[in-house]
Amino acid sequence: MQAGQCWQCESPAENNLFCKFCNSLQRPLTDYYAFFGLEHKLNIDNEDLQRRFYQLSKLLHPDRYTRRAQRERDYSLEATAILNDGYRVLRDPVKRAEYILAEQGFEVGEQRAKDVPPELLEEVFELNMALEELVSGASSVRPQLEEARSRFRAMRREADERLGDLYKLWDASGERDSLVAVRGELNRRKYIENLITEVEKALSA
Ligand SMILES: [Zn+2]
Repeated sequence: MQAGQCWQCESPAENNLFCKFCNSLQRPLTDYYAFFGLEHKLNIDNEDLQRRFYQLSKLLHPDRYTRRAQRERDYSLEATAILNDGYRVLRDPVKRAEYILAEQGFEVGEQRAKDVPPELLEEVFELNMALEELVSGASSVRPQLEEARSRFRAMRREADERLGDLYKLWDASGERDSLVAVRGELNRRKYIENLITEVEKALSA
């Protein structure tokens, strides 16, 4: 068998999940977009993705493979893992963008998200003071923290809007500069997200 051929009947397989001639399951593509048959875009239609997910779930259901060749059973397990991981990543706009960034050779890690965005320096300083006061028993800072929480939530919404615009830009142009901007906004969003988690934890303690 050569690459690009069906392992069963040796017809051209053309990267399809199922052979068009003998219908046997092929080795699945590991790229999430390719697996779902989607173009590499940052904006995707979530309903369309969901339809593809359900359709593939049906086609890959374990019951269909119990009496098939071992090779097909192995491929069906591989494909099911890619299906579930891919769906989890692609339906989430942030994880999806991180996936594209990683594919395009960008470093995406927690570390970069730890640098305080300059315009938030003062805000973060005051927040940390208030959090410390709360820990040492000063419940009078609660309203201040609640206010901070709604401010950060509003910032997260704004970041999501900006990301939506940047996604459109990259989808239309494919220019690396717009991905750099996406990464910057994602890091900022992640930083804000961490602040929200911290404040929520303190307020619910
Ligand atoms: Zn075949």
